[in-house]
Amino acid sequence: MRAIPYMGDSVGFSSERYRLSMIEQIRLSGVEDLRVLQAMLKVERHRFVDSALRVQAYEDTSLPIGAGQTISKPNVVARMLSLLLQAPIYLQKGLHQRVLEIGTGCGYQAAILSLLCKEVYSLERIKELHLKAKSNLRPLRLPNLHLLLRDGAQGYETGSPFSGILSAAGAEHLPRIWIDQLDIGGRLVAPVQNQAGRQSLLVIDRTPSGIKEVIMEDVHFVPLKSGIE
Ligand code: SAH
Repeated sequence: MRAIPYMGDSVGFSSERYRLSMIEQIRLSGVEDLRVLQAMLKVERHRFVDSALRVQAYEDTSLPIGAGQTISKPNVVARMLSLLLQAPIYLQKGLHQRVLEIGTGCGYQAAILSLLCKEVYSLERIKELHLKAKSNLRPLRLPNLHLLLRDGAQGYETGSPFSGILSAAGAEHLPRIWIDQLDIGGRLVAPVQNQAGRQSLLVIDRTPSGIKEVIMEDVHFVPLKSGIE
């Protein structure tokens, strides 16, 4: 796993013990994948939220990040990442070559992904957040993470095929193009609206013989929208 430069602690906030307790909570909630837990231990979540919210940064809660959007709960991030790392192609090759994230937001999950995958493309449709993520991520110097201001509902043809696609925004109907942009053995993890009007986490594998879909637990994500703002 890639190292992340230590960012110093100019705010006088010693965060490691809070992060350790967050990781322990995640583990108790059932995500035991050490690669995910170790990567989440490295990324300082408090750097991705406004200073007024820093004390809450290691609680299992979603927090506002501006433009009416939220950073996902650490538990949910861990769950989605562990599902992504169980992609058939990952089990075969021991690596995610190219991963697409839809919904960069503040860049927190993108930073973790970049520690776990070879190349990461992360799309955001709101310019304010795209720029915020850029500035949050600059000090981490993650050369394999590519941030793009784009409508993720279209996927990202240029970077495809992806061994993994992860959406941080809930679609009413899953964009078919995401599945088209998956590599054989690749996996898509995304929240999608269900018949009850709530959202379920969906895991879709593109296998040599077709599409395999599993519906997981209910989740609560901001909606997938289209166009650039
Ligand atoms: N992974 C993010 C979570 C952000 S919330 C984090 O760690 O902070 C989901 C994000 O998806 C929001 O920023 C929202 O603007 C974005 N989003 C919604 N629809 C989108 C679309 N079509 N393309 C790209 N981003 C989208």
